[in-house]
Amino acid sequence: MIFPLIAGVLAAAFVATAKEDHMGTWRAWWQGVVDPGATRRASERLRSGLLDQINYARIGAKLDPLKTDPELEKFLERYATELPCDDADAVTQNLQNTLPRYFKVAVCVATKPDPEELLHEFRPFSEKSSKEMTHFACMLKASAGGLSKTCLAVIGQRLEDFSPEALNARKADAFYNVCPHCSFPHVCRVSYQQHSLIMDCPSCGRTYAVVAVDSSGKFRYVNEFLTGYEPPAKFPKDQSSLQKLFTIWSAVHRHCTYTLDPETKKSQIDAWQTAFETENLQRGDCEDSSIFLADWLEAQGFRVRVVLGRYGDMGGHAWCVVRLDGVDYLLESTTGRPDPNNPPYADIVGSRYVPEIEFDRKAIYVRNKPKQAFSGDYWSSKVWARVEPRNHSISSAVRASADVSQQLSASTRRAERLSADKTRLAITGHRQPAVAPFANLDKIPAGSLWQLRARDVADPENSGADAP
Ligand SMILES: [Zn+2]
Repeated sequence: MIFPLIAGVLAAAFVATAKEDHMGTWRAWWQGVVDPGATRRASERLRSGLLDQINYARIGAKLDPLKTDPELEKFLERYATELPCDDADAVTQNLQNTLPRYFKVAVCVATKPDPEELLHEFRPFSEKSSKEMTHFACMLKASAGGLSKTCLAVIGQRLEDFSPEALNARKADAFYNVCPHCSFPHVCRVSYQQHSLIMDCPSCGRTYAVVAVDSSGKFRYVNEFLTGYEPPAKFPKDQSSLQKLFTIWSAVHRHCTYTLDPETKKSQIDAWQTAFETENLQRGDCEDSSIFLADWLEAQGFRVRVVLGRYGDMGGHAWCVVRLDGVDYLLESTTGRPDPNNPPYADIVGSRYVPEIEFDRKAIYVRNKPKQAFSGDYWSSKVWARVEPRNHSISSAVRASADVSQQLSASTRRAERLSADKTRLAITGHRQPAVAPFANLDKIPAGSLWQLRARDVADPENSGADAP
């Protein structure tokens, strides 16, 4: 009784599909029955066929070929096992939630009984992949009770980790990062028009990286401008630490004429200089002279940080802070003259200085609460969070698989999401051009304390009493 019924149903289905010229359905089904490994092999063939088809079109259009990505394949496999694949929008959304490293994503879904037909069906999709796409994955799944096959194909832009080196390669304008403060994975978009970039986390709002362009046009983490350079100098014997501080500070003033960047480097606005470069050029703007000063002081064992921030309402500025014997000194490296009789106690001269970022050779320090008024504390970890840019490991942060079971209903066949959710985009800032703000330090006593060995020989004005 049952056998004739099954035979009848099969015959009816056969006639229906034959009428619609879908003999392939039965061919594929029958192959599946006689050879269970056929589906897996068909899947492999389709994957390589589809990748070839896409890359053939890309090479023709002078674009880099796509690569496969095991992480993306694993996602598709899990997705196809747990969820229906017919909604490309849902796949896109789920993919970007699960693998936030994928910035731009194009998804295509097609169902055909025969893998050869599927390949043909994907032709328009294969020919349209955009320039910034980097990776590909696809997944073949039996559908219609085994009578047909659904292929889910994804092309995506897999972002590289943010780093000065990745910026310097200039292959993309978007990068992936995980906030070192709050572990939030996100995308940072950069503009190469900007010569210094302050990267703020879109979730916790704290700065996690500051990079600037050097004189050769390459981006560096700002702390890496402190290279450990100190000029060849001989200090007078028996100087106190405070006297030594003034000696170095005065030397920096004398060996660096304050110049705004655009005047000196028209081709490269706001390039930062190392201490060595500033000493050789004998000029620089506020961050150049601050780096010169801090590098030298750090080499002599002082506890010093370069500070980036604002001076009054005059815009962006850079200066140094030193803590010596429990006292904070705010060292202005641009205008004025250091005066040992009038030490620049930070709590006295610092009222108009608003620090935003500090750095020394190893780390940057960012305000834990950037919007709160500055308390005058340049050092404590309550106010300043320390970030070592080379030391915070960025993992690919695959999110909880709970996302996969989140079903969405729209049934578009193909989806292309070309930008990430705005709440996931890092905010990049650009410092204002620096201004010359400081006039409190314009007196320097006669017979000042310092002398440089080589440079000051021909300078009778500075042959001070303590000179060697
Ligand atoms: Zn954060």
